[in-house]
Amino acid sequence: MKIPLANNTLIIIAAIGLIVVSSAALSFFSYHYTVGRENVAETTLTQSIIKLALQNIDRLEQRILDNDRIMAAMIDVNDPLNWPSMVEAIKDADLNVEQVYLLRPESNYPVFPQYSYEIRNQWGAFRKNFDLKEIELERLVPGQPYHLHKEKPNNYFFATYMLREGRDGSRYLVCFQMNFDKIIAMLDKYLRDLQDRFYVSIVDFENNAVYNQPVSRSSTYFFESRFPTTLYKWILQIVPRNYAELQLGVRNQRLTNLFFITLSMLLIFISLAFIYVGWQRDRQLRQMKESFISNVSHELKTPLSLIRMFSEILVLGKVNRDDKRLEYYRIIHNESDRMSRLIDNLLDFANLAQGIEYKHFEKTDIARLVTKAMEAYRYEIQKQGFQLKMTAASDIPEIFADPNAITMAFFNLLDNSVKYSGERKYIEVRLEKTDGFLDLSVIDKGIGISPSERQKIFDKFYRGSEPAIRKVRGSGIGLAITKHVAEIHGGEVLVHSEVGKGSEFTLRIPIREAPGF
Ligand code: ADP
Repeated sequence: MKIPLANNTLIIIAAIGLIVVSSAALSFFSYHYTVGRENVAETTLTQSIIKLALQNIDRLEQRILDNDRIMAAMIDVNDPLNWPSMVEAIKDADLNVEQVYLLRPESNYPVFPQYSYEIRNQWGAFRKNFDLKEIELERLVPGQPYHLHKEKPNNYFFATYMLREGRDGSRYLVCFQMNFDKIIAMLDKYLRDLQDRFYVSIVDFENNAVYNQPVSRSSTYFFESRFPTTLYKWILQIVPRNYAELQLGVRNQRLTNLFFITLSMLLIFISLAFIYVGWQRDRQLRQMKESFISNVSHELKTPLSLIRMFSEILVLGKVNRDDKRLEYYRIIHNESDRMSRLIDNLLDFANLAQGIEYKHFEKTDIARLVTKAMEAYRYEIQKQGFQLKMTAASDIPEIFADPNAITMAFFNLLDNSVKYSGERKYIEVRLEKTDGFLDLSVIDKGIGISPSERQKIFDKFYRGSEPAIRKVRGSGIGLAITKHVAEIHGGEVLVHSEVGKGSEFTLRIPIREAPGF
């Protein structure tokens, strides 16, 4: 199926557009997916930390509540004689109890231990923290343990208390004052295992250290929680020991993902740019080929019509004067010469395009070859009003070269100088010997070549974009062939040109007197 050119362009633009959109969408989603996945991992870790902290708080709470139950079971208010031994047993048990007070709600002094000079200070300190007005006795359910926990100025006073009724109906408030150091030792026992992997601390509401130093709150993985009913003035803080690495790891992972996504996007865009450039070149080449065909047809048509016209005049015998006839013969000869040069160029170009090289290297006297070619061309050039100058150094050696190829390259340069000379019709041909090379230069004072075009003029089918060039006949293959000729000889073509001042093309051929390159 043949697809029109315009449609081809549309298809390529649409394909590039689709690739851009789909790769952008792909990058967007993969980035969001990876970020989402990292967030899930982060959330899972945070949740497991929260769970761990809450579990530990729960374990400690349970331990205190279990102690309460044991203390409640050990207390019997009915037998005052037994109180001292009962209290001693409670203090001795592993319940963190420092002192037990039995109070009568209506009395200012303890029922047990009996108020005395020895317990004066201890009792005073206890009463300062355990204020009955704070307790709201009416709301207490008999037998149920309650807790009182205080802030730092009160030395984190902690007590369990319960209302008990004796058989005789008398009510006692039983207070178990806890030992701070023993409570801390209990916390340590429960939290020690955790500290291999976590920084654990207990602080009060003002972030004063109670157990270990306060933990930095800055981390994403930091978690803190209060003890709900027992040590309710304290907060447990927890953060993984390697939190800095964890955060850095997540950040690095994110950066790495972002880097690879950006890199692959970049590569896609670069490849698209390559595709675009290649496609543009292809399009240009196609356009050049098309104009090449019309240029070549035109170039062949002009001499052909001249030949036909003058030969017709001659055949009809309309020309009486000998000099006129001679001039017409010369025109026919020159135009057929031009045609055969063009056809040679085309054949050579066809070989070049197919990669076939016909080299017929032999000992060549370049100076003689150039002079002969100039003579063949001189009449035509001078007829067009050109001043032609030739200088050849006397020490030009014979070199090993393909004479036909060199002639063709030389004619191409000469022809260009004629075509692009404009009003200043002066051409100089110079043959010199430089360091190991023969330089054959064709110099004109014509329109010149801009620096931006200087490289492109050697491309196949390339023709200058100036209107002055466009109106001159040409096929855009002359310089490509000339360059190729230079290259098969191991040489090059040099250009010096200035817009509006003229150009100098030099065919530089290495001096080789025998084959072997
Ligand atoms: P053509 O002459 O058929 O266009 P060439 O390959 O011989 O093709 O030359 C390529 C282009 O190089 C020309 O179209 C022209 O723009 C530029 N050029 C070549 N020779 C000269 C020159 N002597 N002066 C100015 N421009 C030149």
